[in-house]
Amino acid sequence: MAVAFLSAQRSKDPRTQVGACIVNNDNKIIGIGYNGMPKGCDDDEFPWKKGPHSSLDSKYLYVCHAEVNAVLNKNSSDCKDCTMYVALFPCNECAKIIIQSSIKTVIYMSDKYADKVQTIAAKKMFDAAGIKYRQYISKHKKIEIDFDDTDYMNQSLESPMKENA
Ligand SMILES: [Zn+2]
Repeated sequence: MAVAFLSAQRSKDPRTQVGACIVNNDNKIIGIGYNGMPKGCDDDEFPWKKGPHSSLDSKYLYVCHAEVNAVLNKNSSDCKDCTMYVALFPCNECAKIIIQSSIKTVIYMSDKYADKVQTIAAKKMFDAAGIKYRQYISKHKKIEIDFDDTDYMNQSLESPMKENA
């Protein structure tokens, strides 16, 4: 889940940054993704605004969701029986991709749009297709990455060379 959240930080969406991480039965990562514009569709030219879902000026017609990108970016031949960790409960469009890619389990962090038809439809499809889903229970409230807080970063660049001289 932390890798899903780290991936989400790369999203250019100013409001909703979502990340997804797919692991196989050995818990090896086979794909990660975040919500973003399709290849060649400039992040600075296409809109990130909210608005009516059918509006050409809102993001909804363009953005690829994290789940779809994670499936498409996978470095494995398929996602059969894999588990997807995702920050937000998948929408109906992503649910279709998840089902068709043979992912078996979805572990999500937030279900804040549980009342929306997209989420209700997603759960309906997951239930019918036998996809298990559950909320992630975190042992840690936060994970901090301090790039300076490692032995190799605290050494000056010259010292390792001089040690053996
Ligand atoms: Zn989606």
